Amino acid sequence: MTTFRWQADLAECFTDPGALLAHLGLEDSELADATAAQAFGFRVTRSYADRMRRGDPRDPLLLQVLPAREELFGAPGFTADPVGDQAAAVVPGVLHKYQGRALLVTTGACAINCRYCFRRGFPYGAYQLGRQAESEALGYLAADPSIGEVILSGGDPLVLSDTRLSDLVGRLAAIPHLQTLRVHTRLPVVLPSRVTHGLTDALASSRLVTVMVIHANHPNEVDGAVLAGLQQLRDKGFMLLNQAVLLRGINDEAEVLASLNRRLALAGVLPYYLHQLDRASGTAHFLVSDQRARAIHESLRRRLPGYLVPRLAREIAGEPYKTLL
Ligand SMILES: *Cc1c(COP(=O)(O)O)cnc(C)c1O
Ligand code: SF4
Repeated sequence: MTTFRWQADLAECFTDPGALLAHLGLEDSELADATAAQAFGFRVTRSYADRMRRGDPRDPLLLQVLPAREELFGAPGFTADPVGDQAAAVVPGVLHKYQGRALLVTTGACAINCRYCFRRGFPYGAYQLGRQAESEALGYLAADPSIGEVILSGGDPLVLSDTRLSDLVGRLAAIPHLQTLRVHTRLPVVLPSRVTHGLTDALASSRLVTVMVIHANHPNEVDGAVLAGLQQLRDKGFMLLNQAVLLRGINDEAEVLASLNRRLALAGVLPYYLHQLDRASGTAHFLVSDQRARAIHESLRRRLPGYLVPRLAREIAGEPYKTLL
């Protein structure tokens, strides 16, 4: 079987915090918490690590992936399933929460483990869409004509092979009432080598309109390689949006977010949501208060053209849509 370059890149991820810290010239400090790294695995692509500043323990990219002691502290209101995904799982691999849209948990795997991830405590592996569950999932979508949009999520759907993706897209396109294929992925940001002609062909192989929602939080994440990949996706006609999570000490300043959105606009990516943190266990130290979140958003509206201002939102379990603050 051919191994593609992105698959080789994925296999070469840092999975040991000590190795990443040494790579950054931070070997003397005890920055990573070993117990936290055991509770939620450590994983960072080399490409993402190369965008971190050497010798800076407060680097905004490093802080997104570095296991911290604070993750072990409990906090009231922070739980393993903060957005009610368990209740929304209608058949294995399908979350159906909102009218007209259904989400497929294609895989539990990601290229990178973000410490603030709302999935960190939830057994997505158990909900993911194996080949066996796939037929049942597609049957569910086919049986509900109110569903016009399917969201491929995970984990990260783009860790699936091109063959698996084009196969899935083909089966989805055969469901007549589906119009839109949405892909939620962080790979174009954390593993830009994933964006290949094989990938764009696999996703564009059907009649479905393709929307890709990427996930970048900080302007330092968006280097030339990332912009080139995004441009390639756009050249294929995909609608490109970004969602970011508001994170204390990382991007909780208007100028940082303004700069992120201006950079993404260079490749035609518009901001979608700016999420208030989902309250997953072990993430409380990333929380930005609502008051501060609103002030940052207000400041973004002053600084940016309207189309570069994201919607400030949070997900509340049981609500019929994501709630705007
Ligand atoms: C966020 C989410 C969606 C999409 O919501 P939009 O507001 O359309 O982006 C759909 N399904 C689930 C389960 C979600 O969590
Ligand atoms: S689902 Fe997204 S936020 Fe969570 S670990 Fe994977 S890439 Fe990071």
